[in-house]
Amino acid sequence: MCRTKEEGGLNIINLENQNNALLVKFLDKFYNHASIPWVHLTWSKLYHNENIPPHSKKPCDSFWWKDVLKLFPKFRDFARCNPGKGNTTTLWSDNWSGQLLEEVFPQLHSFCRKKHWSLKHFVEKDPEVTLFLPLSEQAVEQLYELDVLLTSSLESQETPDSWEYTWGNIFLPKKAYNHLQGQVNAPPIFKWIWKGGKLGKHKFFTWLLVRDRLCTRNLLKRKRMHLDSYACALCTHSPEETCLHLFFTCTFSQTCWNLLQIDWDLDLPPQEMLIKARVNFGSHIFREIFITTSWTIWKVRNGVIFDNKAASLTEWKILLKEELGLVCLKAKRRTADPLKLWCENRL
Ligand SMILES: [Zn+2]
Repeated sequence: MCRTKEEGGLNIINLENQNNALLVKFLDKFYNHASIPWVHLTWSKLYHNENIPPHSKKPCDSFWWKDVLKLFPKFRDFARCNPGKGNTTTLWSDNWSGQLLEEVFPQLHSFCRKKHWSLKHFVEKDPEVTLFLPLSEQAVEQLYELDVLLTSSLESQETPDSWEYTWGNIFLPKKAYNHLQGQVNAPPIFKWIWKGGKLGKHKFFTWLLVRDRLCTRNLLKRKRMHLDSYACALCTHSPEETCLHLFFTCTFSQTCWNLLQIDWDLDLPPQEMLIKARVNFGSHIFREIFITTSWTIWKVRNGVIFDNKAASLTEWKILLKEELGLVCLKAKRRTADPLKLWCENRL
């Protein structure tokens, strides 16, 4: 539900990720040495030893700061250090050069005495202090390559480190939230159902239908709810009431679709079936007609189950006309005009 509508969700905010995106802002201020009292205080009180970056040390001090620092791995996913002094980043496991050096120089890394030392420490100290000697031939070659990289990448060691983000220099909680949420590839049908001039209830209903989350008897059975019968209430064959049956293979709904001259190729998977029917229909108003018809079939089904009404085609037709009339009021002229014409001819 917290995914975007294009990704098959309802665009509801994921509170955990939202909270983390806002908390990570403290790391932005801290690592970029913002001119704020708590930042100065934290650096001077807790991190005067510049040989180890703050996130490589065991979290210390207040519960608040410990919790904020725990978010560093998430922060590191979209933040990158531009080293100056080199005291806020590790040489090996932080992505300050566009790549993780522990992966680029694995042999040299294996000779390293302390893997979590800062870049500053490695640059300032002699190899005797930072590495186990003697080095293998391969490690020596990698040490030369590392020297070249350090010479070309490092700015003046007088300037403090700065951290930038995959989207730019300024930290933006919204971008951080999107990054924490990640992306999911969803079928294009989810984008399709939210477009157009349908009523909100129709859109939400279709989202439930596409996700197979409509409260059919089959869903209640899956939720282990006991019913006397799980059979379809609209037809005499009485198979189990699934979404596929209720809206496409049920004799009642098939009669409805036939009246509207919409054919379903039931041999195809649901999405392809929908695409084929849309192509055969030949007009962009297919979406409004498909969704509103499904909605009215659902209303007739609810009338039968909850109000002891009969499954009446006449009543369904009146209901469909009413609902399409409401859709025409909301839709743009490009959709409303052909839809009105279609209603006059067909209903
Ligand atoms: Zn049925």
